[in-house]
Amino acid sequence: MAKHVVTLISGDGIGPEITKAMTRVVEATGVDIEWESVEAGADVMEKYGTPLPQHVLDSVRKNKVAIKGPITTPIGTGFRSVNVALRKELDLYTCLRPSFSIPGTGARYDNVDLVIVRENTEDLYAGIEFEEGSKGAEELIKFVADHGAGIIRPDSGISLKPISVTCTRRIVKFAFDYAIANGRKKVTAVHKANILKYSDGLFLKVAREVAEEYADSGIEFEDYIIDATCMQLVLHPEWWDVLVLPNLYGDILSDLAAGLIGGLGMAPGANIGADYAVFEPVHGSAPKYAGKDMANPTALILSAVLMLNHLGEREAADRVLAAVKTVLAEGEKVTYDIKRTNTGSTEGCVGTQTYADAVIEKL
Ligand code: NAP
Repeated sequence: MAKHVVTLISGDGIGPEITKAMTRVVEATGVDIEWESVEAGADVMEKYGTPLPQHVLDSVRKNKVAIKGPITTPIGTGFRSVNVALRKELDLYTCLRPSFSIPGTGARYDNVDLVIVRENTEDLYAGIEFEEGSKGAEELIKFVADHGAGIIRPDSGISLKPISVTCTRRIVKFAFDYAIANGRKKVTAVHKANILKYSDGLFLKVAREVAEEYADSGIEFEDYIIDATCMQLVLHPEWWDVLVLPNLYGDILSDLAAGLIGGLGMAPGANIGADYAVFEPVHGSAPKYAGKDMANPTALILSAVLMLNHLGEREAADRVLAAVKTVLAEGEKVTYDIKRTNTGSTEGCVGTQTYADAVIEKL
């Protein structure tokens, strides 16, 4: 048996092609790894009656580590996000999204080195929603009025934003432990506690309590309001170190941070819980590029770098990162998105697999 058995979910849209590029790069490092391929999403709905079949969850539970491509979520109808369900089922309570500048990407900034630690299980992403006109919505509107909490228009749809002490404690602790383990200097809690007193207010209160417990760690703590954070991230991306946020703000800031370093094709991620870890890029399935051998696989390859580190394969992880950096710095064999930000045109770009070949050559 291979030293590492990893569940592989290639996803849909551009998922299968970037997954192929990533697995080729990882295998070329010589790491002793076996992929256990399983599928989730719309394509398996008919066969299994669910977009997230039980055997997919069983595979991740058995192997403890998975890497996945993006999975399309139908908007406003159909099934709920498989990505969100996977995080909830496996209690992958941390979404870790490092954003760092790599020369050659043509990004607007060359001085970004921050990490987003996003709470992954609650907030407006909890999936607790009441459809406009439903009995649940009607009863909730009455409940709110009866408790003198406010008047909600009868034709409203409602999404709840639960934020708990338990989940806030563990995510802020994760942020501090990550900061300590990775030589970081500062943790910033981001919120809107001035307006959302009982949800974000609780998040801030608990974050301050946890920071107190880490007072001797040498890690600085501060808090910032989400709107001000957005502006300062764009003005001074070099200010930021580790940011810890409730789910929705974390989601939005992850894309903003990806924009600072050259776009979604560059932004890796990991979903980590107490028992399991699922690595995946920040970006989605980019359906318009599906099957065209155009998408940039860097975000997934860098997610594999996070995975290799998690598996203790540090040397292989360093080699992949160095190879990616070299190919991007040379700027010759890069995908359309990188060519476009560098030159304003996609002329001379290469496809997904040719880029992967170039990375493999530099390993
Ligand atoms: P998206 O798939 O991330 O794509 C948005 C745009 O980002 C693309 O049109 C492209 O921009 C750029 N992009 C994304 N990935 C890229 C890559 N690998 N290489 C180069 N450029 C890349 O966002 P979306 O269109 O909003 O979402 C599509 C579907 O994915 C939705 O169903 C959504 O729910 C789902 N989604 C899944 C996940 C997940 O599986 N974890 C995460 C997010 C979204 P240009 O056209 O400007 O080049």
